[in-house]
This record gives sequence, structure tokens and C-alpha cells, in this order.
Amino acid sequence: MRDCDVAIVGAGVAGLAAARWLTRRGARVVICEALARAGGRAFTDHPAALGRTPFDHGASWLHSAERNPLARLGQCHGESLLDTARTRRRVAFIDGRLATEAELAARDAAEAALEAALIARSDHPGPEQTPDPSFAAALDELPPDPWHANIEAIEATLIAAADPTRLSLADWRANRLEGTNLLPPEGLGAYVLHLLAPPADALALATPVTRIDWSGPGVALATPRGTIHAKAAIVTVSTGVLAAGRITFAPALPETMATAIASLPMGLLSKVALRASSADRLDLRPGCFVERRLDARGEPFMAFNAWPRGRDHVIGFVGGETAWELARAGEKAAEDFARAELTRLFGTRAARSFAPEAVVTSWGSDPTFLGAYAYPLPAAAAARLTLATPLATGRLTFAGEACHPTLAGTVAGAFTSGRTAARMVWRGVAGEKV
Ligand SMILES: Cc1cc2nc3c(=O)[nH]c(=O)nc-3n(C[C@H](O)[C@H](O)[C@H](O)COP(=O)(O)OP(=O)(O)OC[C@H]3O[C@@H](n4cnc5c(N)ncnc54)[C@H](O)[C@@H]3O)c2cc1C
Repeated sequence: MRDCDVAIVGAGVAGLAAARWLTRRGARVVICEALARAGGRAFTDHPAALGRTPFDHGASWLHSAERNPLARLGQCHGESLLDTARTRRRVAFIDGRLATEAELAARDAAEAALEAALIARSDHPGPEQTPDPSFAAALDELPPDPWHANIEAIEATLIAAADPTRLSLADWRANRLEGTNLLPPEGLGAYVLHLLAPPADALALATPVTRIDWSGPGVALATPRGTIHAKAAIVTVSTGVLAAGRITFAPALPETMATAIASLPMGLLSKVALRASSADRLDLRPGCFVERRLDARGEPFMAFNAWPRGRDHVIGFVGGETAWELARAGEKAAEDFARAELTRLFGTRAARSFAPEAVVTSWGSDPTFLGAYAYPLPAAAAARLTLATPLATGRLTFAGEACHPTLAGTVAGAFTSGRTAARMVWRGVAGEKV
């Protein structure tokens, strides 16, 4: 393995963004990637079970396009991006029947009121109130509404991928995704690789880093293909991988950093995709979102995105504790759960409408990720910035989605965090201080 200025651990969006920034400034960079592919949690596949159409196992939307540097980069490169606002219609079922327009309006009103109340609670806690409770604890303080269970399930278990009783309210508030959502037609994983492909000689695939010696003056990264010596390292692996000790550090990480990692556990969001076996589209418009009104908070929940981009499959999303339980039980359990939920909505028509094969994502059980993205525990929202603080004046710096304070859990957050880490590390490398 060749020596370099900056060794980057992980070729996900953060690692690729850091490499792009550094190589443009003439730095010699090596990216060590455990898998035989780049992109990390931005991964487009063309599964046979879905007729070989593009399917994003991880990220698929460019959220908050107005402040998303990856959306801007694509637009500058002439990429066509689909604004999902036109198709983002909501369909809800109540006790096996379609919700009326008035009921949907009541749902929207409940969502707006709940969000406004939680934002106010987070920004201005009362003198007797815990400053940063869990999302669930803050919701407990509000008068109940029949839609609260669904809104909690979507905001906490799907969007934040976290159990609402463990998710910091302050972090939920700081990372709310507003504005336009854009879809790259050929998949977000493919889009990322197209825009951020590193120079071929900078990327070492199938090269997991097992140990990082950062005792100085530079760093030494142990891999099964040899040791890489560099002036500095940027580590972009998930907090799940860090917490599991899959990379050892010598010397051990300072207590503040170890605490930050422990305060940022991985949430889980899983997808189950099922392909139509006939022309029946269940009277659902392409791109719409389908949910069932829950009877109680905490009930297992799956929302469906029907026929995305007009394609002939639906994608079920399940998050939080239910997703972890299904991941432990195996792919078939998640598939069965999705089919059972569709049957609750559409009766026997659902069983006739879908092919027997399914695609089930496996972020929870995959040892290179160990979850979907990180969420901070109550009162621990500052852990994101602690994790992003360079050690030994930049000799060892962490980056990735978990490090971003307002775009965490997104490719935009990963991209910005990678670029910021590169900028901080480069100061030291260019000045030969690390
Ligand atoms: C199901 C799901 C849906 C999502 N939906 C969206 C969405 O619609 N929009 C959005 O913006 N974001 C979404 N996200 C989040 C987004 O995918 C992530 O925030 C982002 O891709 C994380 O990038 P990263 O570079 O921080 O980490 P990663 O992508 O995890 O990159 C880290 C890299 O490190 C590698 N690695 C691990 N261990 C080692 C080791 N020991 N040595 C070397 N390499 C190692 C991994 O293989 C990986 O390639 C979703 C994620 C999931 C899982």
C-alpha cells in the first residue's frame, strides 16, 4: 500500500467528498474501503426481483434541495432531478377504509400543530421542564390526537430511524428536513458515484482498516493488504462500526470521543420492495405515500411509497425498534410483515397483486454499517459536534452523516461533513503540522 498525505477510511459520500476536496488541492490521498464497491449507504442496485429497475437500498431523495450541496452539484453538471412535490400525495386508511378529504385535512392540521408545539417546547422549555427530553416524552405533554401515533411513527421511527423514547427532541428539531425533495431518475447511489468518483489510483476497495495508530508524528493504518502511512486520517465509518470496536485506535480514543460515539447509537430504517404481478395498481397514483392510522402510539408501523417514478413496485418503510426486531428475525420476517400490512389495507387484492419475490434491505445486520444512521440520545445532541472535532490538531478526524448538526442522516450532511473535515485536515497537512 502506498503512503500518502491523507488516508480516508470509507468511500461513502463523506469519504468521497473529502477525497474530492483534497485531490483538487494537490494532496496525495488513499481511500480505504472495506467493501468491493464505493458509495456506502448511497447504493443503487438493479435487482432481478424488481425487473432490473434501479433500486436504492439506502438513500434515495436529495432532501432540502435548497440547502443541499449535492443537489446543486448535480444541477451544475446538468443532471436531471425529479421534484417529488407533484407526486407526494398522501393516502391514509382508517379501519380498513380510505380516509375522507376531511380526515386527511384533520391529519395535516394535527401534524402542523404538533410540530409547532414541539418546536416551541424545544426552543423555549419552561422553568420546570427538562431542557432536552425524548421526542416521546415531549409528545406526552401535549393533549392527545388520533393522528399523534402516526406522526410520531413517521417523524421518529422512519425519518430519524429511532425509538421515540430514545430520540433527543433538540436533535429532531435541529434536523427537520424542509423544502424540496429531488429524485435522481437512475438512483441516488448511481448519482453520487457519477458526481464524486475519485481518481482510480486513490481508491483501495476491499481494504478494511482494522487499526489506526495515531500516536504521531503521522498515522499508520493497518489493513489486510498492508499498512498505510499518512500525515493524517479522516475516518468516515458509521458510529455503529466505531461503537462495535471494528477499528481499534492506538492510543485509545479520549473519553469525550468515546462518550460521543456511545451517545450516537445507530437507528434502523429498512425497506421492503415488492413488484406488481399484474396490471392492478391498487388505485394508487405513482409516487404516493400510503399509511394506516394506528390505534395506539408505539404500534408496529410500515408506510408505503407506491410505484415510485411510475415503476411497477411498491416500497415499504419500517424503522426503529420494529425494524431491529425484523432484522434480527431475518429477511423473510420483514417481507411477511410488509405483505401482512398490505393485506390489512387492500384485503385479498394485495395477495393477488404482488410477485412472490421481494427485496429486503439489510443495513442492520451488515457489519460494515450496523444500522441506517445515528441519532443522539436525549440531552446528547452536542455529541455530533464533539465527534466532528479534530484530534491531535487534525491528525485524526471523524466525519460522516453523524457529525452534521442540521443535516444528519442525509447524504447532504455526509457530503458537507467530509468536505469540512478535509478543509480542517488540509490546514495541518499543508503546514506539515500533523
Ligand atoms: C434505508 C436508508 C434510507 C436513507 N434515505 C436517505 C434519503 O432518502 N436521503 C438522504 O439524504 N439520506 C438517506 N439516508 C442516509 C444516507 O444514506 C447516509 O446519511 C449517508 O449515505 C452516509 O454517508 P457516510 O459517508 O457518512 O457513511 P457511509 O455511507 O456508511 O460510508 C462509510 C464507508 O465506510 C466503509 N467502512 C466501514 N467499515 C470500514 C473499515 N473498517 N475500513 C474501511 N471502510 C469501512 C463502509 O463500507 C462505507 O462505504 C438513508 C440511509 C438508509 C440506510
